[in-house]
Amino acid sequence: MKRTKLAIVVPCYNEEEVLPTSADILLNIMQKMIDIKQIDANSKILFVNDGSKDGTWTLIKQLEQKNSLFTGLKFSRNFGHQNALMAGMEVAGKYADCVITIDADLQDDETLIPKMVASYQEGNEVVLGVRNDRSSDSKFKRWTAESFYNLMGKMGVQLVPDHADYRLLGSHAIKVLMDYKETNLFLRGIVPQLGFNTQKLYYQRKPRLAGETKYPLKKMISFAFDGITSFSIAPVKAIMTLGVFVIAISLIMVVYSIIRFFTGNVISGWTSIMTSLWFLGGIQLIGISVLGEYIGKIYAEVKHRPRYVIETDDYSVTQKSDVVENTHDLAGA
Ligand code: UDP
Ligand code: MG
Repeated sequence: MKRTKLAIVVPCYNEEEVLPTSADILLNIMQKMIDIKQIDANSKILFVNDGSKDGTWTLIKQLEQKNSLFTGLKFSRNFGHQNALMAGMEVAGKYADCVITIDADLQDDETLIPKMVASYQEGNEVVLGVRNDRSSDSKFKRWTAESFYNLMGKMGVQLVPDHADYRLLGSHAIKVLMDYKETNLFLRGIVPQLGFNTQKLYYQRKPRLAGETKYPLKKMISFAFDGITSFSIAPVKAIMTLGVFVIAISLIMVVYSIIRFFTGNVISGWTSIMTSLWFLGGIQLIGISVLGEYIGKIYAEVKHRPRYVIETDDYSVTQKSDVVENTHDLAGA
């Protein structure tokens, strides 16, 4: 049987403090898997340097010299974590049977790697690392993460709670993932949409080996906002609800103003201003949300997401020779 060729993709942004240690640990794991013949000797650990301003790239080059299992890819500037993952998977997916993505700080339990590969070998195209405990995170990070998953759920975005970007994807799943052409990437929302046989493996997240987080609050909020707006037009629908609510208030205002008008004691013009103010406000909100619905549809269209994902297609395999013959006929005609 052909041995599984594995690629471990590691996004790196200013990670010179952790890289030597992480590289050593990952190399050890990969070497062991090669020794016991679980994976092909031509497997790789691919570091994606996401425009680091420190010595990360020099370190990666040194690692490449040291061991041929290491290899690197360098962005021309900082494109962000999600793009680094995507690039790593795109490049590695061409050569490897399966790709595992893991953060450079090894907060995610690297001992899960052989188990992920075993799960792939048992027929799972997607293996998700899910953390079962957040005790290593600060209270604040835990609270924000929890609120994030709650909010996303309410907005109708299906996420696997506590699964970040530690996962294995088979090359077939990666090929399909590359058909998601959107620039605003939110991988953990897309991956559950791919389908395929999926397994979750649980682990405990550790504190960072060294250095500091590359996801400060500002980046986290913008990431969350990206996630919501990439997958949901719930905010637009909320405007519609608000519009209907304001119109309901306008009706109450109409009744109230008319009563005030007849019981006297109103400045002339007040009744008409009060009733039209609320009514117009409501109409405007509804108008905006209707426009929003159309923009939402355009948004969904321009993303050109695949309509479906074919896992196996025996028909095309059996018909392939026919297709070639037909083209010959056409060419000859
Ligand atoms: N990262 C990246 N580009 C960025 C920010 C982060 O490639 O612009 C990488 C970073 O080097 C790390 C991973 O993404 O390997 C996750 O970052 P970090 O560990 O700082 O995030 P946290 O675990 O604190 O959420
Ligand atoms: Mg981290």
